[in-house]
Amino acid sequence: MFDNLSDKLDKAFHILKGHGKITEVNVAETLKEVRRALLDADVNFKIAKDFTTKVKEKAIGQDVLTTLQPGQLLVKLVKDELTELMGGDVAGINLSGNPTVILMSGLQGSGKTTFSGKLANYLLTKKNKKPLLVACDIYRPAAIQQLYVVGDSIGVEVYSEPENKNPVEIAQNAIKHAKANGFNVVIVDTAGRLAVDEQMMKEIAEVHKAIQPQETLFVVDAMTGQDAVNTAKAFNDILNFDGVILTKLDGDTRGGAAISIKSVVNKPIKFVGTGEKMDAIDVFYPVRMAERILGMGDVVTLVERAQEQFDEEEARKIQKKIAKNEFGFDDFLSQIQQVKKMGNMKDLVGMIPGASKAMKDVEIEDDAFKHIEAIIHSMTPKERSKPVIIDVKRKARIAKGSGTKIEQVNQLMKQFEQMSKMMKMMQGPGGKNLMKMMGG
Ligand code: GDP
Repeated sequence: MFDNLSDKLDKAFHILKGHGKITEVNVAETLKEVRRALLDADVNFKIAKDFTTKVKEKAIGQDVLTTLQPGQLLVKLVKDELTELMGGDVAGINLSGNPTVILMSGLQGSGKTTFSGKLANYLLTKKNKKPLLVACDIYRPAAIQQLYVVGDSIGVEVYSEPENKNPVEIAQNAIKHAKANGFNVVIVDTAGRLAVDEQMMKEIAEVHKAIQPQETLFVVDAMTGQDAVNTAKAFNDILNFDGVILTKLDGDTRGGAAISIKSVVNKPIKFVGTGEKMDAIDVFYPVRMAERILGMGDVVTLVERAQEQFDEEEARKIQKKIAKNEFGFDDFLSQIQQVKKMGNMKDLVGMIPGASKAMKDVEIEDDAFKHIEAIIHSMTPKERSKPVIIDVKRKARIAKGSGTKIEQVNQLMKQFEQMSKMMKMMQGPGGKNLMKMMGG
């Protein structure tokens, strides 16, 4: 996420690190590089200019040059300003209606239907709501079908009227249906076009006026940079929407949209989409995003994700097995499944402070565990529960069965052994000391 921008900002701050004594000229040079980095990330020219002017003013105001660590202070000023630019505080979602009506807007292909599903899933699983999804696209039957597929996958009902060509009526009927059937959130997915066009705007404006949603959300593809900002402006002029959803942040985006959109339309980014799966949704925290952009990682999100996946009962079971020397490859596999649920590897690495930079040149596969899983799946149940019986002959068979090399099997066996040893140590009498050593 935003690797290029992070890289360039890092280089900009390097200017300061190379000098024994930092002068006004160094600071000015650094800020010029910061501005260039923002422009390269497709941030609007005026925003980038204002940004560096503000940081410079603050730097002068705080007498950066006389402080002990001017470089660090400047990074902090940049972080604060980035946070501010992206909205400052986290923006919540208004769920006060009964039912709460949420209208989704945006261009075709922006990820509206996918996000409608993600939001429904989020509200169902995290906020204890009973959402109803509504298909209001009267032009593309495939779009209605797609919403059904999404709804099915998360167990959320979908409302549609395939014969009805009036989206206002469909939306109104859906709300009646929700009231009569105990749904407390109605998410209305509307028709999008490939570009802003008058008919589409008129139609969504009519739906908006008729159903008076508590939340009107504008969905936009982060990969489209400045275009995203322009489209946001066009939609905001018509709908005066409440918040922005930035999708496809998992892709190779430059970051311009995330940084510019708030100051152009003065509406906060509320959620981001980070993948095609239904759980690839994150609440947008400006400060965490600023830290990630500056290569400081995002430990808070990482810990939250880990906590979400943490299964206490499973942990207790594993602990018992370790104590009894019974930790096997099946348990290893289930640990991998838990880590995988936390998100894709690239995304996770980006959340570890400094890791993004350190692993810049390492190719991280989306499915980093693919080989490990294949190897374990090629073992017999007995081999999995009692790895000591895996001899050279068995290793060769496992490698063949999993389409890997015997070295890879060896490597996994070694990792497994080390991990088992370490876990045992942490549990034993010396465990407390070890944990202390590791800062636990
Ligand atoms: P709509 O036309 O606005 O309803 O867009 P869709 O929901 O059909 O999404 C268009 C394409 O983008 C689909 O292939 C989605 O799987 C994909 N997509 C949506 N959100 C994300 C995301 O956050 N990350 C990635 N990588 N793909 C996404």
